[in-house]
Amino acid sequence: MLKGTVVAIDGPSGVGKSTVGRLLAKSLGYPFLDTGIMYRALTWLALEKGVSPEDEEALSRLAQEVPLELRPTDGDYHTTVDDRNLTPFLRHPVVERWVSHVSRVAGVREALVRQQQKVAGGEGIVMAGRDIGTVVLPHAHLKIFLTATPQERAQRRYRELVSRETPVSYEQVAEDMKRRDDIDSRRAVSPLKPAPDAHVLDTDDLSPEAVVEQIKALIK
Ligand code: C5P
Repeated sequence: MLKGTVVAIDGPSGVGKSTVGRLLAKSLGYPFLDTGIMYRALTWLALEKGVSPEDEEALSRLAQEVPLELRPTDGDYHTTVDDRNLTPFLRHPVVERWVSHVSRVAGVREALVRQQQKVAGGEGIVMAGRDIGTVVLPHAHLKIFLTATPQERAQRRYRELVSRETPVSYEQVAEDMKRRDDIDSRRAVSPLKPAPDAHVLDTDDLSPEAVVEQIKALIK
């Protein structure tokens, strides 16, 4: 196996990017960065500070100025601001509601992409998101684009939320996901789409472990 392999994993909401990415990174002994947590953290901070998720200028300024830090913890990263761990807030329904609006903003993306590229720094890493293979790490050794039907993805996300005792209905999860995917796919800057050289893996009938095995076979 190559040393220092850079693996980009992209795909729509609920497809299992972070589960697969985390397992893969662990088995390769690499760090894993789920870039979604950065857009979520910024959304939470904007709402907390009273910045409207529709105010592009204020959001861009916030993204440039806020000391959003990524702390490596057990091979994963946590987002902190001034020593405050934001992890507990990132799945809040209000974040779910607004994150795709915030991540449409070019100034926000510029700031966060720069930080993501710095974390990668040419070392072996697994990074997951929407634009990793197309924009963040266009020279990644391996690009994976995961897919699954909307029903399967909503089921996965619903099961995950229920296991965390989040009070939510399946219909709500499916609707939220569809709305986010529509905005993510149609936005002008870095829309969700596979890189031309990405391997597209349909995960409908596959366990996360089986997906990881397929990716490892591609690395070899
Ligand atoms: O992956 P996750 O569902 O946590 O991402 C939350 C949102 O963050 C996405 O719906 C998308 O709007 C945004 N995002 C993005 N680019 C990334 C990662 C996430 O625009 N690389």
